[in-house]
Amino acid sequence: QKFRKWATTKIRTTCPHCGTGCQVDLLVKNNVIVGAEPADGPANRNLLCVKGKFASYKFVASGDRLTTPLIKRQGQFVPASWDEALTLIADKFTALKQNYGGNSLAGFSCSRSTNEDNYVFQKMVRTAFGSNNVDNCARVCHSATVHGLAHTLGSGAMTNTIADITTDVDVILLIGSNTTEAHPVIGSQIRQAVQHGTKLIVIDPRKIDLTKNSTMHLQAKAGTNVALINGMMNVIIREGLADQDFIAKRTEGYTAMRELVADYTPEKVAKICEIEPEEIINAARLYAKAGKAPIIYCLGVTEHSTGTEGVMSMSNLAMLVGKIGRPGCGVNPLRGQNNVQGACDMGCSPFDFPGYQKVADSKTIAKFEKAWATKLNPQIGLTSTQVLPAATRGEIKGLYIFGEDPIVTDPDTSHVRHALESLDFLVVQELFMTETAAYADVILPGISFAEKDGTFTNTERRIQRIRKAVAPRGGAREDYKVFCEVATRMGYSMTYDSPSQIMAEIAQVVPTFAGVNYKRLDILGSLQWPCRSLDDPGTPIMHVGQFSRGRGLFMAIPYKPAKELPDATYPYLMSTGRMLYQYNTRAMTGRTAGINKLANHSYIEINYEDANRLGIKDGDKVQVSSRRGKIQTYAAVGDQVMQSSVFMTFHFPDGNVNEITNPVFDDIAIIPEYKVCAVAIEPVK
Ligand code: SF4
Repeated sequence: QKFRKWATTKIRTTCPHCGTGCQVDLLVKNNVIVGAEPADGPANRNLLCVKGKFASYKFVASGDRLTTPLIKRQGQFVPASWDEALTLIADKFTALKQNYGGNSLAGFSCSRSTNEDNYVFQKMVRTAFGSNNVDNCARVCHSATVHGLAHTLGSGAMTNTIADITTDVDVILLIGSNTTEAHPVIGSQIRQAVQHGTKLIVIDPRKIDLTKNSTMHLQAKAGTNVALINGMMNVIIREGLADQDFIAKRTEGYTAMRELVADYTPEKVAKICEIEPEEIINAARLYAKAGKAPIIYCLGVTEHSTGTEGVMSMSNLAMLVGKIGRPGCGVNPLRGQNNVQGACDMGCSPFDFPGYQKVADSKTIAKFEKAWATKLNPQIGLTSTQVLPAATRGEIKGLYIFGEDPIVTDPDTSHVRHALESLDFLVVQELFMTETAAYADVILPGISFAEKDGTFTNTERRIQRIRKAVAPRGGAREDYKVFCEVATRMGYSMTYDSPSQIMAEIAQVVPTFAGVNYKRLDILGSLQWPCRSLDDPGTPIMHVGQFSRGRGLFMAIPYKPAKELPDATYPYLMSTGRMLYQYNTRAMTGRTAGINKLANHSYIEINYEDANRLGIKDGDKVQVSSRRGKIQTYAAVGDQVMQSSVFMTFHFPDGNVNEITNPVFDDIAIIPEYKVCAVAIEPVK
């Protein structure tokens, strides 16, 4: 739509894609969003990436939007009234609960939706369904962060702020994060920091773009993070670079960790990681001797069968040199989706009520029974990665999926399909028809970030407003009102007038949100939790003076190899990950024509030498197979990956890489091992 800028209205909101939380002004004319401009938010400082600038709004007006409830009859979806659909949902879930108990029902909440929607969703599952089987997509990306950092530091979130770790720091230790593609605005800020003199250590199996700006790149084999960090700590301790004063005053568990890492000499670790011992020694010295040096990490650390151990290794390293609880330092996970931090904070977890208050603690159950005026199930629930196999076994009968597409996002797609087919009743609430929605008994239309009020919490624990810019499409209703209707029709009465009223309830039951309300957010622009009272300005840096758990806990963590390594039949080690232009399943970015022009198919990065040996040229169609199945994609031949390793994008239905990823899980966080599986590659004639 053509427009004159002066004829548009600007609505300040938060980008709906990654966890950076960029502030953006939507330009609205005649109830249509016609453009987006960067705003001066604390995380983005007037920057936006290609997704925020061009792909943050066109999907809102897409003709593909679901606008009315659909009920499946004789295999076909037919439009239905809200009353008909909600009655059917409530009746079916109630019958399943009566026949099989509340634990036969489960819900997956939406990390792209607001804190308020997520709060009401988990409340519906806990009160009306009578189960703690509620989870969100953090399970398959950063659940290891939540578990690993909470265990060692007492809080499972980024310790410092984006501005703090990219301004005036001496060294940045970047591990398992392709920042310029996955969190582009943070990537730009890292680049700017390097231009101003910061030294950058990149630890990544691929030559990511930021290696061009790095002082050193440790191209360690995927799946060897724990060994590498143990090796760096071995050097730091041996060379007297550990902060003994910090260790004595603020931590526990040091002796066991020191004894374990004594065995991880640089020579031994170099063989495991397939790098040189000097690289480990030099990286350890550079990080340990720096004054200010944050660790920044992402899914290259978490998405392993040892993901939680990898995260705890990050805590070990920072505590060893006393680089935590002060400016320009800390352990800083970059959370993936716009509100995946918030979905976790709001209790969309089988282990935690809102604010990480534990299901396993009887005092928590009593507290929420009082607050919500109902009896609650005290049994810890199932993770999303446990719900699907439980459905296959007939133990989960009913599932409500809000804004998730596990057929595309979860490992070993054929098992996910089988699990969804095994359910007695599936509800999907979505913006668009998705691969998962096709399996639903009832589909409800969801509403987008631009059609609602609410808050998102970005990767640095920053709670920011989103604001309604246009009216919802067709007959779509506000998501939290739909959950209230379902709960009420199932016998638990729940009503809210507005998202700000929901936030007021959150502030009452979550101590770390006690000082958060819409009035303060509108005046201050944002608040970082913990924010414990109305005069608390929020907490930019955590663990200052004392860890959230009291003393920081060192963990002695032996290295364990990935569960499936290359062999003669499947000789290549494959990792999966993001590309710059598209976001996750492309449900939103894939509706922007310009973005699709730039990136419209999957690809697999293959090293020159391997490609030559296999007779594959850049752009050729190739078949990639694993023990789970076969897919076809296009070869991207170069030197980004080392020999015998390959990397594949995960956004596209052509060559859905999760048909072949390995469904093995970390024992603690139950996160899948997306970053390592064994595959074979051959040209397609
Ligand atoms: Fe949106 Fe992330 Fe890009 Fe910022 S960096 S504009 S939050 S996708």
